[in-house]
Amino acid sequence: MGEIRRVLISVSDKHGIVDFARRLADFGIEILSTGGTATALRAAGLKVQEVGDYTGFPELLEGRLKTLHPKIHGGLLGKRGEAGHLRQMAEHDIPPIDLLCVNLYPFAQTIARPDCSLAEAVENIDIGGPTMLRAAAKNWEGVTVLVDPDDYALVLREMEQSGGGVGAATRFALARKVFAHTAQYDGAIANYLSSLRPDGTRETFPETLSLHFSKVQDLRYGENPHQQAAFYSDGSGTGIAMARQLQGKELSYNNIADSDAAVNLVREFAEPACAIVKHGNPCGVAVAMDLLGAYQRALAGDPVSAFGGIIACNRPLDGQTAQLVAEQFAEVVLAPEILPEAQAILARKKNLRVLAFGVDNDWRGAGWDFKRVRGGLLVQDFDQGDLNESVWRVVSERAPTALEHRDLAFAWRVAKHVRSNAIVYVREGQSMGIGAGQMSRVDAAKCGAAKALELGFDLHGAALASDAFFPFRDGVDAAAAAGVKAIIQPGGSIRDEEVIASANEHGIAMIFTSMRHFRH
Ligand code: 5GP
Repeated sequence: MGEIRRVLISVSDKHGIVDFARRLADFGIEILSTGGTATALRAAGLKVQEVGDYTGFPELLEGRLKTLHPKIHGGLLGKRGEAGHLRQMAEHDIPPIDLLCVNLYPFAQTIARPDCSLAEAVENIDIGGPTMLRAAAKNWEGVTVLVDPDDYALVLREMEQSGGGVGAATRFALARKVFAHTAQYDGAIANYLSSLRPDGTRETFPETLSLHFSKVQDLRYGENPHQQAAFYSDGSGTGIAMARQLQGKELSYNNIADSDAAVNLVREFAEPACAIVKHGNPCGVAVAMDLLGAYQRALAGDPVSAFGGIIACNRPLDGQTAQLVAEQFAEVVLAPEILPEAQAILARKKNLRVLAFGVDNDWRGAGWDFKRVRGGLLVQDFDQGDLNESVWRVVSERAPTALEHRDLAFAWRVAKHVRSNAIVYVREGQSMGIGAGQMSRVDAAKCGAAKALELGFDLHGAALASDAFFPFRDGVDAAAAAGVKAIIQPGGSIRDEEVIASANEHGIAMIFTSMRHFRH
């Protein structure tokens, strides 16, 4: 374990740096530093040598040239155990630098500002920082390299335990982190520059796309046991990657996918809501005065399919609701938080996975949605299309009643989360039959209705949502035959008139939303 004698510190984010440097100084370590960092450390009373004085070569070109000098890079790159390297270093007066602490110009934060100019962005491309980081990381066998202030404490702890050195395992882990970091940093630069149009405005999607995800965990298998799988986070600190598992078996690939779908759905609703998801589709969704009611009604929406489902709630899980959940076979239960009495009840169900996804989790924020196809990647932004009732249009002779309107709005929100072709039957804030993933809309309508009737629901006076327009009147006729009295759909078919005529013949109130919610 090599002892650390000389450190170079050059940081943009100066958070925690004074304390860290002070502790290093306590070890008797010599500190080298660049302009701004040296000023900050000296202001705190620390003894620092500026890189310019150390190399005999001043910082030039408005800071573009600070550390790009053989005495710096030689000190980082020279192999400690190699006689030839050590001889050359001695000949050319290149003392080893044993610890490098660098974080980079804030490129991502700079370009995130809407008023950021190309010139500003370019000035925030760090050159010397990544060069030093890569040099030190390449030479991890002799050099400890820090790019993340969160790691200062770890390194100090090891130094204290070993009397001034850092172990090989930590050095290697830190070096790997550096290459991931510089790759991500350069990826952000490439994404930015390749999205610029000649007039300086930016395209949403760059010409080349660099993505950076970090592994959360390996999974036992993928969608099927013969497929290998892992789960990665996008680093945004949102969504299912931030959910905390409180108990139960390890999450599977399908559990994670369905949990995401279920929480996405319940987060559509302001009132207490519960959704039960199976294979990417909700089988029961309901809103109620409280979570207990919402859960009971979601379950009653299709108790057969709910077996082995993923249950998502948009309110803290309480004891009473947990009691009922415990009586059901479910794979996963998710809520913003799990109250202590609910935790105590669910603890009996050892296999049940219980997840708290956090009250402040920005699950529905903007972002990109990806779909891998052989040979490529489809990218779009998330379907953020909310209910915008101001663009809704009543196209039928009869306008929906207030109650029908509420149910149509609810059904429309649910339909957005059902695979296409999607038809959702609803009454009083409860789904009763969901036709999902059918290849024709009329089949989706028939499927949902058949399901509702089989479960004993009376569809007379029910509301229906369709995720896309009815291409023919047959779907409306089928819904009318089942007893539906109100329909919400985007509209926009060349046969809209025929479809509206069907609604009028059956006394159905019909709304056009002008927005489609295909989901595949
Ligand atoms: P300081 O605030 O100490 O003056 O500058 C610290 C920043 O300068 C760090 O983010 C570091 O990555 C960056 N830096 C260090 N050496 C060089 C260099 O030679 N060229 C450029 N462009 N940036 C450097």
